[in-house]
Amino acid sequence: MRACTQCRRIVKGTKCPVCQGETTRNFQGIVVIFDTESEIAKKLGITAPGKYAIRV
Ligand SMILES: [Zn+2]
Repeated sequence: MRACTQCRRIVKGTKCPVCQGETTRNFQGIVVIFDTESEIAKKLGITAPGKYAIRV
């Protein structure tokens, strides 16, 4: 499992399919965002639901 270094989305390949950013295996924690209006989503700057790394 890898995380995008740009948008922090959890992805499979070496390139993020969403923003074309580089991905890394070196990330900490996963957060699942269902509601982009939630406090955690706002704090992490997430604008689309999905799985994200807490720290990349
Ligand atoms: Zn990305």
